[in-house]
Amino acid sequence: MAIDSDLAARLAMQYEPATYRRRIAGHDVIIHCHHYNARLQRTIEGARGIDGKGIIVGAAETVFADQLARALRPDDDEARRWAVAELLYRHLGFGRIDLSQVGAGIVTADSSHFVEGWLAGLGESADNVCSFTEGYVQGAVYAVTGAAVRVREVECMARGAERCRFEVDRGERPPVTPNRKEPPIPAPREPGAGWLRSPHVDEQAIIDAVVGMPMVGDDAGLIPAFSVYLANMPADFYNRICIGFVEAMRGLGRDKTAIRLLVSDAEHCGMNTFRGIMHSPEWDGLIAPMVRDRADALHAIIAISNALGWGDWHVTAHTPRSLALESRYGYEAVGYREFRGLAAAPQCAMLTGVAAGVMELVYGEGTVEERYGTFSAREERCVSCGEASCNFAVEQVE
Ligand SMILES: [Zn+2]
Ligand SMILES: [Zn+2]
Repeated sequence: MAIDSDLAARLAMQYEPATYRRRIAGHDVIIHCHHYNARLQRTIEGARGIDGKGIIVGAAETVFADQLARALRPDDDEARRWAVAELLYRHLGFGRIDLSQVGAGIVTADSSHFVEGWLAGLGESADNVCSFTEGYVQGAVYAVTGAAVRVREVECMARGAERCRFEVDRGERPPVTPNRKEPPIPAPREPGAGWLRSPHVDEQAIIDAVVGMPMVGDDAGLIPAFSVYLANMPADFYNRICIGFVEAMRGLGRDKTAIRLLVSDAEHCGMNTFRGIMHSPEWDGLIAPMVRDRADALHAIIAISNALGWGDWHVTAHTPRSLALESRYGYEAVGYREFRGLAAAPQCAMLTGVAAGVMELVYGEGTVEERYGTFSAREERCVSCGEASCNFAVEQVE
């Protein structure tokens, strides 16, 4: 269906400069690429002894039931409610779903962010891969009709099918979990002290340009930009799946392994996403003229990541072999406080991995795999533990 001005207003993105957050339909959304999203899914679903798929499906159901409810209006008739559900999915960049036969228990999808990510990075799959879409459709059915259903994918493009096909099972099941959170902790209002800048890099111009780019799904519901597919993922989804994964692994005594895996996925993500960005026409046009040396490239990359909603983070010390970063309002730390309260240990696996990945990209040589692991990062303090900011230290590995 066409996007009229009413729907466009409901789904318009608001950028909050003070916190570097992007907000769509009442949810902070974080821009990540298809490599990261598919890898994160493989990590969580591939872990033995836990129900990783259940974590992904349940988080998507809960979060999108909530986001869709905020996008709907009391006078929307049922046809319009289904249209909003299709449109939100496409708008955020997850692909294109057809809900026109949902009453008969059939949903199809002919393009998919997750299938693209899976095929690009992980190869053909023996299993159907669209757990995320199963959860999204469950959330949509709940938001539109109030019914809790199960959705199961029966054919998947990742296994060579022409389109993904889902069946809706209306049998007994537990109610949909509400997206219950504590109110957010207060966001910092004043600029921080001790942030390093490059005299050549106009960080605000970069942020304004990236925020001004229309990062919404095309007709197929995909966002091809910077040589990757991007998507606007609600922060609550990332937080729910990562917290759920680490807690499930803790039950097996493997929570440290779980965090290491999440850091590793982000380390790859940092290199893949920013390598794509550095080879894009957008970089050549706007950023390359500001970049005189590798340190400038690093400052530009951090500015871009702030425009993508990653962390309100800033360089506090930097040499070619080391980097220190401070993040005051990263979504992992703030989300942990909202969902779980104070943490006993730092929680920001994504920022930790990306911090290493960025140094590997800027100062390393060779392929992504050759660069991987040549820098190590650790989070020394975290907002989730009650500190005023998250602090990351990156060192070259000897
Ligand atoms: Zn599929
Ligand atoms: Zn943190």
